This record gives sequence, C-alpha cells and structure tokens, in this order.
Amino acid sequence: ISVSDLVDESYKRIAEVETQVSAFLTLDEERARSQAKKLDEKLGTDEAKGLLFGMPVGVKDNIVTKDLRTTAASQILHNFDPIYDATVVTKLQEAETITIGKLNMDEFAMGSSTENSSFKKTKNPWNIETVPGGSSGGSAAAVAAGEVPFSLGSDTGGSIRQPASFCGVVGLKPTYGRVSRFGLIAFASSLDQIGPITRTVEDNAYVLQAIAGVDPMDSTSANVEVPSYVNALTGDVKGLKIGVPKEYIGEGVNPEVRESVMKALATLEKLGATWEEVSLPHSKYALSTYYLLSSSEASANLARFDGVRYGYRSPNSNNLMELYKNSRAEGFGDEVKRRIMLGTFALSSGYYDAYYKKAQKARTLIKKDFEDVFAKYDVIVGPTTPTPAFKISEKTSDPLTMYANDILTIPVNLAGVPGISVPCGFDQGLPLGLQIIGKHFDEATVYRVAHAFE
Ligand code: GLN
Repeated sequence: ISVSDLVDESYKRIAEVETQVSAFLTLDEERARSQAKKLDEKLGTDEAKGLLFGMPVGVKDNIVTKDLRTTAASQILHNFDPIYDATVVTKLQEAETITIGKLNMDEFAMGSSTENSSFKKTKNPWNIETVPGGSSGGSAAAVAAGEVPFSLGSDTGGSIRQPASFCGVVGLKPTYGRVSRFGLIAFASSLDQIGPITRTVEDNAYVLQAIAGVDPMDSTSANVEVPSYVNALTGDVKGLKIGVPKEYIGEGVNPEVRESVMKALATLEKLGATWEEVSLPHSKYALSTYYLLSSSEASANLARFDGVRYGYRSPNSNNLMELYKNSRAEGFGDEVKRRIMLGTFALSSGYYDAYYKKAQKARTLIKKDFEDVFAKYDVIVGPTTPTPAFKISEKTSDPLTMYANDILTIPVNLAGVPGISVPCGFDQGLPLGLQIIGKHFDEATVYRVAHAFE
C-alpha cells in the first residue's frame, strides 16, 4: 500500500461521511496529495524512516499551520494564513505524516460541545443528534468516523478527554510542559496542552512519542527525558495501586457511568492491580477556580486580536479606538466575550485579591490533593465525564450546565498532571470514557494501564 493510497482512503471516507459529521473546517487535498507523492518516492528505501511514515492526520484549528488557513473557529481569524508551523506540526512532518486538513472546535477552545464554533456544528458520529463534545469536537469526530487515523487536539480543561469520551476514541492530555505549545493559539497558557486523539492506546503512544519533548521556542516546555511509550505497553499491571476518588463516582454522575467504571476496575483487579477509594477534597472548588483563572488568562491572551495585526478588521470605523472596539465586537462570539469580560473583571484592581489571587490559592490546594494521593497510589481512575454525549442545543442556553460537564477533567489541568480517556462502555447507545490520571511526566504508566484495560 502506498502513501497515496492512504490519502485516497482518507478522502474517500471524508466524501462518504463529512456532509453528516462536519468535522473539518479546511481541507487541502492538493497539498496532501503532493506530500504523499514525495513520501511515495521514499517508499521501500532506507529514507522512509519517519515514526509515523505516511499516516494521514487532522489538526485542530487552533494549531498554526504554515500557509494553511487557521481560524480557531473564530470570525476574527476567518482569513488568517499563518507564516509558520507550530512545533507539533513540524514534528509531525519530521515523523513524515500527511496533513489532511484542519478540524472544527469551539471558538478559541472555549466550550464543551463544539457548538461555539462560528462556522459549523460538528456531529457525534455515533448519533448525529448529539454533540461530539468539545472543544476538540472535530478532532474526536474525525477519528471516530474513520476520516483520519489520528488527530491533534488541545486540552485546557478537558477538551481532548471529554470529546474522546463522547466519541468512543482515545485522547490524552499530556503533563503540562510535555509537549511544546509554540504555535498553539493561546487560551489559558498555564493550562493548555496539545495531545493526540487516536483509535487505540498504542497509536496514541506513537503519536505522543513523535510530538513530545523540550522546545527552545516554548520556555514552559520541560527538559525531561521522553521515554519509549510504546515499550510501556506491556499489558502488565500486577501490583499496581489505583486510587478512585469518591468525588468522581458520587452525586451528579450517571449510574451507568459509575457502573462502567466499576466494571473497568474489576477488569484491572483481575489483571493483578488493586484499588481503593481515595479523596480529592478540594475538587468542589475546581470548576470556579478553573473558570476564574482560565478566563483571566484568556482576557490577556486575546488582547492581541485588535483588528490591526491580523485577522478580521471592521470596515466601519472612524478612529483607532473605534477600530479596536468594532473589530472585537464583530469578530468574537458570545462565549468568548463572556470569558473576556469575566477575566478582565477578575484581574481589575480592587478585585484581584478577592478573585484571581484566591483562585490561585485554591489551585495550589487542588494540586496538593493530587500529590497526596500520588504519594500512595500509581494512578487515579474515574469516569471522564458524568454523562454520555448530550443532545445538540440541549445546553447552549445555560452556560453553567455546559461548564459543569468538565467537572472531572478540569482538576487534572489545574494540577498539571497527565490524563487519558479510553472507551469503557456505553450508556443509551453512546460511548463512555474511563479516565486514567498519572503522576507528573508519567504518561508511560498511564498508557500501560490504559493498554492493559483496552
Ligand atoms: N470546556 C472547557 C472550557 O470551556 C474546557 C475547554 C478546553 O479544554 N479547551 O473552558
């Protein structure tokens, strides 16, 4: 099979399902085909040595790609063609993948259903009346629908794991600092991480291998050795200690979800692991802490979209102030504006101590909860989301119920630790995800457990 054949398969599947799924914002078939031709020349020679040689990939649209439209699903970047590649994209090229296109998302990654995209609504391939999750809904749906074998997403409060769970695929948020954020359009810089969405744990390990590592272009990327993730997939979990937070299986979690987690734990027990109930007592503050901190960071990060430097510029302004105001008023969607206002308020003098500083203190307590559990246990296991995928439009009128969907994924970002979602059953015919959380930079153990269970 040639690389061009793989690209054919990908485009064939896209032609079959994309009108229903709507996962992609931009497709560039010509570019993919010419890349494939170049790789085909290497086929069968020693030159074909990329770790992911010839694999078609989809990239979330908040990851910049040189000369390939990158909008973060926002009107304000509707015509933005980046002049450089994100480090992860460069690394994928070094691994010799083929970029098929850019994937839909919630505008600036703010949302849990991809309904905040200002261009289109992506559907869950398992049931097109339900959402694919978000914000990396396009990335998860494209893999679930077989349009691409893998994709990249980004996760600030659950945006890789939650859509992976809703779409029945595997999604990993790496440790903060494991993967370079250079070229990721920033939402909340202290929480954002790029990670792989795949059909299997093994595929996931391969993709992380290709994109992980320190990067001189991102000073928050960590200079920590990248082990062989594929070698970690031994199937052996004997003696492994699992902590199950009681806050993750209590009130607000669907009984079917709890049951599927219990079944997964029984499987892991059979394989020689042990589990005990533990507590992450400050979990109840995670949601408010997250929305304060992430919105504060977003309000600063999104200041750069001013109608002058790139993207949308309002045509109807008489002076510079008006140009800023009109471009932002017309370019940003409602949810983005809501976060900018909340963040600006939380950071303003007089309120800073009461909100931002307090939230930082709560974040430290949440982080400490994890450290305490990880002093005794190898991994933490629970559900990824309290419910399966919800219906399109079900939560759009009430931002708070939308926010509550992230209650089990958000603490992981606040603590900076790695977490994966792997399929673990069904509820009402829709997939459920098991979340496995590891120690800082211990993605290898997370993968080992996920693979043994899978
Ligand atoms: N749903 C969360 C939010 O709206 C998380 C988003 C994300 O992880 N990018 O902020």
